[in-house]
Amino acid sequence: MNIPSSIYIKVYKLTGNQSMKNTEHFKNKLLTLKDELTQRINAIDKDIKHEGMSSNWTEQATERENDEVLESLGKTSEEELIMINHALKRIDSDDYFSCSLCGEEIPSSRLELLPFTIHCVSCAEKIND
Ligand SMILES: [Zn+2]
Repeated sequence: MNIPSSIYIKVYKLTGNQSMKNTEHFKNKLLTLKDELTQRINAIDKDIKHEGMSSNWTEQATERENDEVLESLGKTSEEELIMINHALKRIDSDDYFSCSLCGEEIPSSRLELLPFTIHCVSCAEKIND
């Protein structure tokens, strides 16, 4: 059965702003980031636990230094993961495109660069000051 293309256009228009703003695109982007971060955190955890620990003292000292780097890297990754989960919740509740401070729309171009931001440019600048 052939469906006239005008019906598709109507359906598209009915879904309104939501699909115009391409929520799916950002959701997929966030889910990909989330996967990458989860893998990174798991890899860091494994490294810190030292599977195949060395018996050499010098190497152990180097490993301890590495641990500090790894721990701070792991902390940053976990913080990012929290922000990503928060952004995913914002998508589900339709808040993703509005600034959490002033309620203004966050431009897609900004979300493209910082998919887990919750602030518009001017609010982000105010916070950083
Ligand atoms: Zn704002």
